[in-house]
Amino acid sequence: MSKKLLLAGGGHAHMMTLANLSRFREKGFEVTVVQPSPYHYYSGMGPGMLGNTYSPEEIRFATRKVVEKSGSVFIQEKVARIDPQARRIFLESGESLPYDVLSLNIGSSVPRSIISTASAENIFTVKPIEHLQKARQLILELGTEKPINVAVIGGGPSAVEIAGNVWGLAHRGGLQPVKIQVFARSSIMSGFPDRVRYKAIHSLNARGINILEHCAVKAIHSTRVELESLQNYGADVIFVATGVNPSPVIRESGLRTGPEGGLLVNRYLQSVDHPEIFGGGDCIYFQEQPLDKVGVYAVRENPVLLHNLMASLEGKELQPFDPGGDYLLIFNLGDNTGIFRKKCLLFGGRPAFLIKDYIDRKFMKKFQALER
Ligand SMILES: Cc1cc2nc3c(=O)[nH]c(=O)nc-3n(C[C@H](O)[C@H](O)[C@H](O)COP(=O)(O)OP(=O)(O)OC[C@H]3O[C@@H](n4cnc5c(N)ncnc54)[C@H](O)[C@@H]3O)c2cc1C
Repeated sequence: MSKKLLLAGGGHAHMMTLANLSRFREKGFEVTVVQPSPYHYYSGMGPGMLGNTYSPEEIRFATRKVVEKSGSVFIQEKVARIDPQARRIFLESGESLPYDVLSLNIGSSVPRSIISTASAENIFTVKPIEHLQKARQLILELGTEKPINVAVIGGGPSAVEIAGNVWGLAHRGGLQPVKIQVFARSSIMSGFPDRVRYKAIHSLNARGINILEHCAVKAIHSTRVELESLQNYGADVIFVATGVNPSPVIRESGLRTGPEGGLLVNRYLQSVDHPEIFGGGDCIYFQEQPLDKVGVYAVRENPVLLHNLMASLEGKELQPFDPGGDYLLIFNLGDNTGIFRKKCLLFGGRPAFLIKDYIDRKFMKKFQALER
């Protein structure tokens, strides 16, 4: 019987494997990909899509189409649980699927514990990126009719990019005045050098975006943000950008994890307990050194995952993953400017945005070409 490769999630770390599915098929392996959406959205361009710089179509990769084109099976579902002893995954529908080799790229999510209401349609966690598309629609609808308040909870790069791009959306869409407030528990971009922080703060302040630092949010209600100081701020639209945790599926399945719940993997991106389970991106914890939850690492993991999944099916030697050195970060500030940072090199303005735009579009073009 042919061996079965199962890919859970078609995220940033699986892009090269997805691009090479026909190679697995040619060698007689059966491949199944499980993902809740037919598309995977490229997070690096998510804020730009919110700000109307990009259309949703420009920032997504048609996973289902690419999988089915290669003769593999795509199942539009969420993995709910993994049973490593039985070598089966269970879907939310209750159905289960067997595997010989499993690779997890199911990403991360924003904790919802401070959201007090279960189903408010104006509160958006910044992941999955699809939420930003819905938020854009809502802001356009509301902001055409009346002035609105937008609250962004969080103080990291995502919060800065979201706030800047809501401003961009309001200006490009010719909306009524949109008041934007950022609520940060500590300082804005506290993990970054002061020079980066000042550029971000200056850019937002200069556009009238109100930044409230050292301002912890206690609860988010449907149209109100409640601070720990018990002050309240009204908001028509609320973004939650308070950081991410690996998908809970891994811990709930009893797989060994790192401190935050990511699949604990060795230098081969392989589960330390189950050699037939691999993983990449935000849902893993790399045993050799903790990795930041940035798409850069997920992208760097691609060739190693591709090699190791094939090698594992064929019984060949695995390749170790080298995370590499410092990485380039460019933030999109929403007004066609950015902040570029690599090692000591730091600059802002339009050139930073243009470099990001070029790199991101090139990445998407490469993988979107597989859809045709
Ligand atoms: C607003 C924002 C902007 C960002 N910008 C940048 C940037 O410019 N540069 C950068 O390096 N990083 C950036 N990041 C970080 C980056 O998003 C993550 O590090 C990156 O998305 C990790 O990729 P991933 O493939 O592991 O996860 P994801 O991109 O989350 O992909 C996971 C995939 O798995 C699927 N999935 C989820 N759950 C399940 C399940 N249970 N079963 C099956 N499939 C599932 C999802 O549908 C998705 O397709 C940004 C993050 C945010 C929130």
